[in-house]
Amino acid sequence: MTTTDWLTKDGLERIKVGMKAHSSGVGVFVRIRPTAHFSQDLIECLPDGQTVNIHHRKDLTKPLDSRKSQLSSWSFRLAGILQDVSQEELYTRVCRRVVLGALEGYNGTLMCFGQTGAGKTYTMTGSTESYKHRGIIPRALQEVFQEVDKKTEHAVSVHLSYLEIYNETLVDLLSSVQGSPQLSSRAMVVVEEPGRGVFIRGLSLHPVHSVEEALYLLFEGEMNRIIGSHPLNRNSSRSHCIFTLHIESRSRTLSVAKYVTSKLNLVDLAGSERLGKTGSEGQMFKEATYINKSLSFLEQAILALADRRRDHVPFRQSKLTHALKDSLGGNCNTVLVANIYGEAAQIEETLSTLRFASRMMCIRTNPAVNEHIDPAAQIKKLQKDIHMLKEELSFYNTLVNHPRIKYESLSEAQMAEIHNQVQRYLQGSLEEISITSIIQVQAVFAQFKLAVQEQEQRVKAELCQTFNLMEKDQSANTTARKKGNTRDTTVDVEALRPSSTKANTKMPRDKQSQSKRQGEGSPVSRKRLESVSKSKLNSVQMPVREQESQEEITESQDTQESQLPGNEPFNPDSTPSKAEAFEEFKVGRGSKINRILKENKAVLLERRSLLRQLTEEVNAVKREIDCTTATIQRHETRGGQGQYLVKEGEPDGTSLMQLRELKALYRQRYEVLRDVKAEVNYCQRLVDQCRERLLSEFENWYEKSFPVPEEELDITIDRTLEQGEDDKGLLPDSSSSESFYNAHYRMKKRRALSFTPAHKNSSARSGQRRLPPILPIS
Ligand code: ADP
Ligand code: MG
Repeated sequence: MTTTDWLTKDGLERIKVGMKAHSSGVGVFVRIRPTAHFSQDLIECLPDGQTVNIHHRKDLTKPLDSRKSQLSSWSFRLAGILQDVSQEELYTRVCRRVVLGALEGYNGTLMCFGQTGAGKTYTMTGSTESYKHRGIIPRALQEVFQEVDKKTEHAVSVHLSYLEIYNETLVDLLSSVQGSPQLSSRAMVVVEEPGRGVFIRGLSLHPVHSVEEALYLLFEGEMNRIIGSHPLNRNSSRSHCIFTLHIESRSRTLSVAKYVTSKLNLVDLAGSERLGKTGSEGQMFKEATYINKSLSFLEQAILALADRRRDHVPFRQSKLTHALKDSLGGNCNTVLVANIYGEAAQIEETLSTLRFASRMMCIRTNPAVNEHIDPAAQIKKLQKDIHMLKEELSFYNTLVNHPRIKYESLSEAQMAEIHNQVQRYLQGSLEEISITSIIQVQAVFAQFKLAVQEQEQRVKAELCQTFNLMEKDQSANTTARKKGNTRDTTVDVEALRPSSTKANTKMPRDKQSQSKRQGEGSPVSRKRLESVSKSKLNSVQMPVREQESQEEITESQDTQESQLPGNEPFNPDSTPSKAEAFEEFKVGRGSKINRILKENKAVLLERRSLLRQLTEEVNAVKREIDCTTATIQRHETRGGQGQYLVKEGEPDGTSLMQLRELKALYRQRYEVLRDVKAEVNYCQRLVDQCRERLLSEFENWYEKSFPVPEEELDITIDRTLEQGEDDKGLLPDSSSSESFYNAHYRMKKRRALSFTPAHKNSSARSGQRRLPPILPIS
């Protein structure tokens, strides 16, 4: 918007102001107070209803021919010129749109500005006695409640406040109303909060549910207005008054968390006349100073708002501008009614008011709905949405025949089941884990991660053990194995293998003696040795999985022993005898326990030979002791009845010393002998256990692979397996009768099977007899 000054041909200075009206600008109207002496010469209202020209001789005291006394004209084009319009028309034309906007969530400001007595209060409040002459506020209240009644689908709440700013002091005009907080005026302060905008802290807010309640509050407030007598208007207000409707609207029908709020400010400003004109004195002068100051700041704020190049708007300069900060421009629907006199005597003030009005028109606004989200309602809504989506999903699952899926977090039992599934999948006993839900997939991945972490720990422990780096780690692993030994019986099988016994047997003799001497004299020394032996036997045992994998490598390298895996089905035509099967079992399925058995036996043999050697040594020492004792006894006999004295360096003293040393040596050797004996016993036990295990494994496997009637099996097994020391002896070469019975039984069985047509066909097709799966060692 531009302001253009120019001189006309006839020498009239014309100032054209506010030629453009903005649809999104502030709506500025001029209302002329009705008068019998309307100065048509000076105030020219054009037929367009929007333009008012003011013709004014600047200095009436100057002669007509003087340049300075030339007639000046100003033209103001505004949103509307309201001359001789009723209160109703004014409301309909000027205010209705803003009031209805407030009900939709737009902030609205209706403001009356002008010279004292020009009709601001009449416009804003109107006559409190005459219904017909009621002003904007009562009509707005009426409109609001009519609309609230119509909006049945919305729950609308209305609160009222009535603020007066008198000499820069905030006054609550409704503080006398029952239920208002009794606050002193000092407690009230203009506050700005993000999301809430500008508000007056300490100003009472009154809920109203009907026009009557609202009007009662308005009239109550009117009574409390500070009325000052004034030469121009005895009832003129000397203060700015802001009557505010706080509206909140929530949908009753839609369960949305959104709701809208708005503020409708109805502002009756104090008179804008200049000081000199009124001849005010004393208190009146002070009031006028404040009024002029605050209106001057209002004008500055409006100028700043209108100037888009300016970033800063001085709202805080006065209480009025601060309180109206978000009600002048911004997202607000703003309307200004400029009240002017029609008389020539007030033309300068009229001109001043119209200038203010034209500046107000420069302010651009961007009205927007104040939408909020209620967090509690939002949570409720989202919960409802989630519930509905779950229902939708389960409905969909039912349609596509999916198993019933729960979308809650998994229970402990479900987690345990997933753990179980993953373990079985890793072991190979479960082909695939069926996917049922995203949450289950996440849990499965978590289990895999855990398995990898455990595997890493085991590998680390294995490396430590292999390179014999950390004894502490070894004991930690032993503890770990103890904790985990409920997993399967393979652990027990592994415990039967004395894998570090070689290191133990290769231990230097003197070291062994030393270690045993340390425990000398202690009643628990033997126990300790046993436990030490055991821990040493176990100490390099690896956790089951690594050992298995290592064994797999060893087995693949050992081409001789791993030719026939135990889980390969046998050809029915070459079904082996039990002895043959046992041999096959030893290199196949039972190879591990068999190898452990062999190793244990090797250790046992070694220990036995060591025991023999030690026994011989101990016996030799014993013989020497006996010999030395005999020598000493002979000396004693020679010494007669006198006391036997031993002098150093004498042959007798040497014998005695020798005897002592021999006895010490004997004790030492005996200790070692005893410990080795304990080890032999221990190894023997391991060998026996291995053997038993091998046999029972074999029996299980054989039974499952070649089902035999119980009684027949008893005959063959009992006779063949119950004796023997070494491998061959475990299952002695089958006697001719056993071979005979075995061969007979298998032949009969094969015949019986071959008579079944279905089986015959399947056998013919596959060329192999289908065998039940071989269970893992247990
Ligand atoms: P202001 O508030 O601007 O000082 P008021 O609204 O109190 O002035 O008006 C002063 C007097 O003029 C009041 O008695 C009022 O009734 C009267 N008045 C003002 N405007 C009108 C109008 N448009 N029609 C009738 N009376 C009016
Ligand atoms: Mg007034």
